[in-house]
Amino acid sequence: MASPLPSTVLTCTQCGGELHPDEGQIFLTCPYCSATVYVDKSRVVFHWYVAPTLDEAQARAALHRWMSGNETVKDLDKKSQVVEVQFQYFPLWYFRVKENSRESIRLQPAAATAQTEVTHLQIPAGDLRRYEPSLDPQAVSPTVPLEAALEWVSQKQEKIAVVESALVHVPLYVFRYIFQGKPFTAVVDGSSARVLANIYPAKDELPYRIVGGVAAGVYLCLAMIPVFMGITGGGEDATAGFFVCTGLGILIAPLLLVWALWVAAKV
Ligand SMILES: [Zn+2]
Repeated sequence: MASPLPSTVLTCTQCGGELHPDEGQIFLTCPYCSATVYVDKSRVVFHWYVAPTLDEAQARAALHRWMSGNETVKDLDKKSQVVEVQFQYFPLWYFRVKENSRESIRLQPAAATAQTEVTHLQIPAGDLRRYEPSLDPQAVSPTVPLEAALEWVSQKQEKIAVVESALVHVPLYVFRYIFQGKPFTAVVDGSSARVLANIYPAKDELPYRIVGGVAAGVYLCLAMIPVFMGITGGGEDATAGFFVCTGLGILIAPLLLVWALWVAAKV
């Protein structure tokens, strides 16, 4: 070979063949075994991607289902306006870890993102495909070093052993929408249709708490009636008080229920 060896010799994760990346080149295909790898400052790891199973219309439908569901404020699908949708392959550090002889997968974002929910994605090993250079225009480049992500994973639990590290680009539809004049972002996983959102217009819990608080207060007052009647008038009055309390309780229950239903319909 005519070309001089670089100061650090990189070897293919799969076949051990020597790799000679150009200056600044991070995504490589091994010339011997055609494995796709990512060249981090510290080491070479497998580079995979997950293919999307949803097109943009299907991702939009998944977003609308989530918006009209119970997690978000009522009628968010009708009251909000999607202003932008962008498809991207987002990079994740993929760690196969061993903990008490049990293996599991841990994910860490490999680029800055506000959607930390991406670490909860499920990536079945069977979905991993060799990364292709044709994906580059839509792929976000990793900015979080492998070292840092590794430290983060092992810091959380000390007894963890990282068996394998890899870089995985996952397909995401990033939706930006406006609700009551404020911008929000929701991400739809292009392979599972799962919606990932840290911050979204959630149901206001205060009206529910008010209903619950008032109901508890009313019944506490009712329960005090026989106690006071017993204290002031003796045993028979206590029994009478018990019936008054039960009767009022039965009368008030439907009113509280109607109120609760009204709140549930409004919020
Ligand atoms: Zn190779």
